[in-house]
Amino acid sequence: MNEFKFYNVGEGLFYRGSLNNHAFEFVYDCGSEIKYSHETIDNILRNDFIPKRNLDLLVISHLHKDHTNGIQQLIVYTGKPKKIILPYYYISSNNLFLKGFLFISGYDNDESQTILKSIFNNSDIWRRDEGNKYDNNNEYEFRVTNNHFFEDWDFVLLNKSISSAIAQQIEKDISKLIVNVKIEDYINKNPDKALKELTKIYKGYIKDLNISSTIMIHWPKYECFETSVLTGDAYFDKEIERKILDNICCYGYCFSHCRCRPITYFQVPHHGAEKNFSSISGTFIRKINNFYISFGFGNKYRHPCCNVVYRISSQKGSKIHFAYNSDEPFFDDDTYIIK
Ligand SMILES: [Zn+2]
Ligand SMILES: [Zn+2]
Repeated sequence: MNEFKFYNVGEGLFYRGSLNNHAFEFVYDCGSEIKYSHETIDNILRNDFIPKRNLDLLVISHLHKDHTNGIQQLIVYTGKPKKIILPYYYISSNNLFLKGFLFISGYDNDESQTILKSIFNNSDIWRRDEGNKYDNNNEYEFRVTNNHFFEDWDFVLLNKSISSAIAQQIEKDISKLIVNVKIEDYINKNPDKALKELTKIYKGYIKDLNISSTIMIHWPKYECFETSVLTGDAYFDKEIERKILDNICCYGYCFSHCRCRPITYFQVPHHGAEKNFSSISGTFIRKINNFYISFGFGNKYRHPCCNVVYRISSQKGSKIHFAYNSDEPFFDDDTYIIK
């Protein structure tokens, strides 16, 4: 039996897959911005996860808090994941890039230390250069890795990541800013100023940190349904669409022409924000059977955007599912059926 679930964590994302009767367990993102996120995630872990059953794979789409602030809880409960995938892991000896990124994403020094520890503590971190194929464009690198984590299932990771050259430049600028003190001390001294200055550095090189979100696609090998596309907070453009379609092509295994495979489950990117979704083509949308939007009621970002909901709800035969939550833990899944 294979099970997949988007948990109701509200503004955030927490997705779990369990293949062949728990033989392969993986999680894609674990975080939430709602008030009772700690309790909500705790309940989910107790109900659905086996204590100390180390995850085979943990994929972190990007480091924003609403996708990562449950990771420590998850790792305490399940033990160290066997493999962790980060969207960019320009890992330097002092990790300035990651620490600065976590700080501007809302983590304080202690939280950022905890999360870095939980991520780096002995798990196998996948490095960018382990990918088997690169497509370079001017600013970012695309990573496409067709790796068999688990026999009978294919996993593909796609992302427009922040190149090491840019990450190194950001680290250099941060070093100049903090002069000879530790980044933690610089932040502690004047957090407001630190936030302003560090944000300025990152924004100077990267317009929106969501761009680097790792997209994960998984499907049973040799079968033409049950394809899931997880998007984190990624932006869509023609190139990403093409990459996804190329990857889910079954090359005749289903005795049909290429690109015939539907997308059975699709996580609407960035909690239904319009700018991440607006360039998705009608052709792509028509391939999708089930849309999932993970958002929190009354969130300050006004997710999901009604234009996004309108566009996907005019898609005949598809269903929209909301993995939501207000400040009350545990709503049940809600399903809208579109005739
Ligand atoms: Zn984000
Ligand atoms: Zn998000």
